Amino acid sequence: MIVPEDAEDFNELERIIKEEAGKRTDSVLICPQCNSTDVTYYMGLKTGVQYQCKECGYVGAFIIERDKE
Ligand SMILES: [Zn+2]
Repeated sequence: MIVPEDAEDFNELERIIKEEAGKRTDSVLICPQCNSTDVTYYMGLKTGVQYQCKECGYVGAFIIERDKE
C-alpha cells in the first residue's frame, strides 16, 4: 500500500486551520483587494495556511482582520 507523502502534512494542516478558525471567532477577515468579507481559509500543502476570497479570487497569506462589532 502506497501512502502519499503529503497525507500527514494535510492532516496537520487541517488541524492548524481548525485551531486558527477557533481562535478567530471574534474577528472578521477582509480581502485586501476588494474589501469583501467572503474570505475562507485556503489550504496549501507547500505554502501553509493562506486565505482565499470568494469574491475576487484573491489567494494569499496577507489578509485584513477586524474585530466584530
Ligand atoms: Zn477579494
